[in-house]
Amino acid sequence: MADQLANNLAEIAQQGLYRSRRIIESPQGINLQFNGRSIINFCSNDYLGLAHHSDVIQAFKSAADDYGVGSGSAHLVSGHSMAHHALEEELAAFTGRDRALLFSTGYMANMGVISALVGRNDAVFQDRLNHSSLLDGALLSGARLKRYAHADTEHLDALITESKARKLIVTDGVFSMDGDFAPLPTLVQTAKTNGAWLMVDDAHGLGVVGQQGGGVLAHYSLTQEDVPILMGTLGKGLGTFGAFIAGSEVLIETLIQKARTYIYTTALPAAVAEATRASLKLVIADDWRRDKLTQLSERFTSGAEQLGLSLCASNSAIHPLIIGDSQQAVTISNALFEQGFLVIAIRPPTVPQGSARLRITLSALHEEQHIDRLLDALDKAYKL
Ligand SMILES: *Cc1c(COP(=O)(O)O)cnc(C)c1O
Repeated sequence: MADQLANNLAEIAQQGLYRSRRIIESPQGINLQFNGRSIINFCSNDYLGLAHHSDVIQAFKSAADDYGVGSGSAHLVSGHSMAHHALEEELAAFTGRDRALLFSTGYMANMGVISALVGRNDAVFQDRLNHSSLLDGALLSGARLKRYAHADTEHLDALITESKARKLIVTDGVFSMDGDFAPLPTLVQTAKTNGAWLMVDDAHGLGVVGQQGGGVLAHYSLTQEDVPILMGTLGKGLGTFGAFIAGSEVLIETLIQKARTYIYTTALPAAVAEATRASLKLVIADDWRRDKLTQLSERFTSGAEQLGLSLCASNSAIHPLIIGDSQQAVTISNALFEQGFLVIAIRPPTVPQGSARLRITLSALHEEQHIDRLLDALDKAYKL
């Protein structure tokens, strides 16, 4: 076994696809401590800077006193506390849906929902650039999986045939590795015309875009009737951990009965739910965080243009710089690291072959000087 695995690992390394972890010695934020060195973080999903906010930490600590650390069991056994319940009600109100249901992670929410809603005789239509958890959910369900070209609603139209089977269209709201928005108004029409259900995973939009951070559905003013299944994560814009599905009463009750990743897993700690209640208040109240992200994004985009860097068009806090070659992306990422910036190279299979990139993400806690310094460092790293 050891020989075979070592050979496989050597192959991965040879393709420039070897992954390794950096051990961070500081709290989350824009300034990280690594190996005793301080480094500026440009690759976190903590877009609003709430992961280390004092209100969120305080809520977490006092809930740990009130509830303990572990939740003890699954939600359906004895793990569903007042804290979880209150957070579900607040998330439902926040997203303008009838109800919300907490899951322990976004990966589990996507696996659980898709496999609870469709099965072997059904069909799932997914954008080619959807998050892996959505693809895995479809594979687990046993439904026929059809992938349409990125944001190509004509391609989707061509695939979505007349059949009696259930049809589920699934898309990222804000694409995680590209930062662009799904063409949701058209997808809503396509779903309605073809009697399909529509699910949006708004992991990267929630808190960051739309009025009061309501996400990409708020941005497009789409209701529960337009998009019956909404998935949101709590570990990105909201700065904590976990995920939820929001939708109608019957959707949520169906998931409680049928979603295996909901039923057969321990509830997330109540203290995480209380911390999230605190961060949700900040998400709603602090328009300045979103305004700041917009300003920083504009500064970064125009600076990158002046340097002749090829950025993807992005409406979010995610700004990918496409490099192409995996090894080259790693080289540039390492050069940035030497200059004090953490920007991770994203390589296949996370992104399509030949589209390795630097995924630069901004935080409301960055300052203009950080952006300017990153641009300088990029300019130098490219000239190496
Ligand atoms: C991060 C992410 C997930 C998974 O959420 P976790 O809570 O981290 O498991 C799902 N979908 C998308 C689009 C994501 O970016």
